[in-house]
Amino acid sequence: MARYTGPVCKLCRREGVKLFLKGDRCMSPKCAIERRNTRPGQHGAARQRKLSGYGMQLREKQKVRRTYGVLERQFLREYNEAARRPGKTSDNFIQILETRLDNVVYRLGFGDSRAQARQLVNHGHFNVNGRKTDIASALVKAGDVIAVRDGSKGTEYFKTRALMLAQKAVPGWLSLDIPGLSGRVITLPSRGDVEVPFDEALVVEYYQR
Ligand code: SF4
Repeated sequence: MARYTGPVCKLCRREGVKLFLKGDRCMSPKCAIERRNTRPGQHGAARQRKLSGYGMQLREKQKVRRTYGVLERQFLREYNEAARRPGKTSDNFIQILETRLDNVVYRLGFGDSRAQARQLVNHGHFNVNGRKTDIASALVKAGDVIAVRDGSKGTEYFKTRALMLAQKAVPGWLSLDIPGLSGRVITLPSRGDVEVPFDEALVVEYYQR
């Protein structure tokens, strides 16, 4: 599947905010936003023109899409699913993005970034409810158990990860079993459970224009 392979910090600089795409580096002074918060390119340091309504919606959509690392077509598919479900589309949309398997693996602390979590899923290191699942966009449900597969538990990566997991904060809608290298979805996340620095209503406006 196609994916973005360019410099990821450039994506944050384009949006002018931290999108936390690189794990621990994002918290360090090495973060590109901390060192040089200008848009990329020759004229990046020039003052940005005031954005139109459409421009603001577009930038917000790109921020959300890049944070979750989802390609345009899949992102639209997930938006359409959110619009189809009963309730507020913006809340449904965040819930769908949060319950993607790659995001859940990241939230449980098995990967430092969503990109790393996605790679772990794609490489077949996880079971969902006892069945191997290597589709990063698969959506989990309340009660689902996401576990590192037995064959992967002995790898150096997961042995080291098990030692680091105690320091990771897991959101309240998930529970983590460190010795078992597994996690459980206690309940589906509501908007209040998710700390994301976007205005998802603008994304809905973008798609409804
Ligand atoms: Fe973005 Fe992280 Fe790079 Fe900082 S280090 S610019 S937050 S990806």
